Formats: sequence, C-alpha cells, structure tokens
Amino acid sequence: MLLIASANGSVGMEAGWEILATGGTALDAVEAATRLVEDNPEDHSVGYGGYPNLLGTVELDASLMDGATRRAGTVGAVRGYRHPITIARGVLERLPHVMLVGEGAERLAAELGMEPEQLLTEETRRVWRDGLHGRLDPSDSRQHLLDRISGLLADPEHAAGTVNFLAIDKAGNMASAVSTSGWAWKYPGRLGDSPVIGAGNYCDDRFGAAACTGWGELAIRGATAHSVVGGLAFGLGLAGAAERAVADLRGLDVPGGEPIMHLVALDSAGHHVGLSTQPGNSYLAWEESQSAYSTLPRRVVSLGQ
Ligand code: ASP
Repeated sequence: MLLIASANGSVGMEAGWEILATGGTALDAVEAATRLVEDNPEDHSVGYGGYPNLLGTVELDASLMDGATRRAGTVGAVRGYRHPITIARGVLERLPHVMLVGEGAERLAAELGMEPEQLLTEETRRVWRDGLHGRLDPSDSRQHLLDRISGLLADPEHAAGTVNFLAIDKAGNMASAVSTSGWAWKYPGRLGDSPVIGAGNYCDDRFGAAACTGWGELAIRGATAHSVVGGLAFGLGLAGAAERAVADLRGLDVPGGEPIMHLVALDSAGHHVGLSTQPGNSYLAWEESQSAYSTLPRRVVSLGQ
C-alpha cells in the first residue's frame, strides 16, 4: 500500500489511508482524499473557495484514472459543483466516454444527485475584485477580454496549487486523482492539464503513475504525466523517468514568467518521488511501514537553459 500527494493534500491523507488500510480500492482512496481538499475553503486552488476565472466564475477541472484497466474519467470547466472528482468518477463508471466539459459535466452532476452551489467565498470574491480593480468591469460579461488578457495573466494573485493523489491498494492496483480550480483569472473556458489524461494525470498498473501541478499549458505541451510513465515503460528508473519528463520541458516558452512544473510519481515496486522546478517544495507520502504520513522534499530539476 502507498498513498502520495501534493503538499496541499494533507487534509485528505488520513481518510485516503483509512480506505486503503481497511482493504478499499485505490480508486476509492484517491477520490475520498480529493473530496476533502475540494471541501477546504482555505485552499484557493481546488474546489469550493478556488479562485475564479476572469469574469469571477469558479470553473473546476478534475480527473481520475484506474491503473488496472486504464479507464479514465475527466471533467473540465465545471461550474457550481464543488466535487468535480466525483463527476469525473461518474464519467469513468457510468459513461462510455473519457471527458465531459461545461454543461454536459454539470448535467451529469445533477443526474448523479449532486447539489449545485455558489463556489466563490467572500474572500475569493474580494481578492478577485481587488485583483482586477480598474481593469475589468465585473458586471459586463460581454466585454472584449482578448485585449486585456496579457496584463491580467501577470496578475500577482496567480495561484499555483492543484491537488494530486496517487495510491496503490492492498491488491496492488493503482489509481490517480487530480483536481483544480486552475489558473486564477484564466480566460473563461480554459482547460489546464488536470483533466487531460497524459498531461496532468496518468496511471498504469504495469509501470506506475504520475500527476502534475504548475503551468498546465506546459504539461499539456509536454504530455508530462505520460512522459514519466513512458520512461518507466522504456526501462528508466523512477527518478530518471521523472527527471527526464520535466527536463523535456526545457525551451518551452511561457507567457511573462518562469516556467513552473511540479510532479509526484510512483512505480509498480512502490518507489515514489516528488520533483519541482523550484527549490523548497515538498510532497506527502504514507508507506505501509508508517503510522502517519511524512512530508518529503521534492528534488529540483531546473528548466534553465
Ligand atoms: N496545473 C494547474 C492548471 O494549469 C494549475 C496549478 O497546478 O497551479 O490548471
């Protein structure tokens, strides 16, 4: 058994481990753990209390992948439901599809019995209004955002967050979950890497699993999560596969800033690793021999030329 997560997954670790320790599936563990992060209003990068898009609407992305079957469910740009991970599970289990976006995902949420709600909190509404002060008229949703996007993308409130959980259960099966409110003040309808299988999330019992946080556009362009698992499939060790996947992003431009990528990964032997392009970041790991999870440093892989 093994459960690893990005550092902001701490609120879900106990619940996820409890499911694994009592014989539950990796898929159940990563979903339950993710739901607790989605419930946390203090986390402005995931679920309820996540930062909104340019127009002040919270749009959530999430994905789940089952390593035994390589079945996946993902949702993008979901409005008004705090648990996109559970809608993603509905896609995985109830539909012959992999991805749903917008209204279709919201329709599925309602059919699954989920209750719609306002996901902006007082705090995130205030930060959004203050952050965009003088640059947008929040009451006019038809204004031309394209001319303003470059200034807005450099907003100091740009959120780096997103939650990743990867698990191996008692039966040796793996699952991976990613959930996010995405890039703060993003252009409406923007999807990041989190709902894109192979970019922000990939899981295959034969080799391992990986999930990303950071600049989603980079992980999409580099197919980063699959790049890690592909490295394992071609015989690289876990650390080498993960480092190669991040190093593969060198030279990709990002608008107005430093390219940032973080990932967590594990292999079928139960090794795990966390990587970041910046120093000072950590990830969480709970192994069978431990009575509680540990917080471990991420290895740094520079994207400098
Ligand atoms: N990867 C997420 C996205 O691009 C955001 C993040 O992890 O900070 O939507």
